[in-house]
Amino acid sequence: MPKPVINYEKCKTQKTCVDVCPMQVFEVKGDKVVVAKPEECIGCKACEVQCPEGAITVEED
Ligand code: SF4
Repeated sequence: MPKPVINYEKCKTQKTCVDVCPMQVFEVKGDKVVVAKPEECIGCKACEVQCPEGAITVEED
């Protein structure tokens, strides 16, 4: 199962992942983005590739 992980030391809450994820895995909660629906992730890595801060890693386990 692919598992997107946000590195909050890098994230600047530009919400690119929210916009590019085809499965709506990410949601804005207050002043940060959270991995709201990890079970929906299909492992396309659009978020990992397009995050301007390189703050997302899609892990496989
Ligand atoms: S890998 Fe694809 S489906 Fe999974 S969270 Fe990132 S953009 Fe969404």
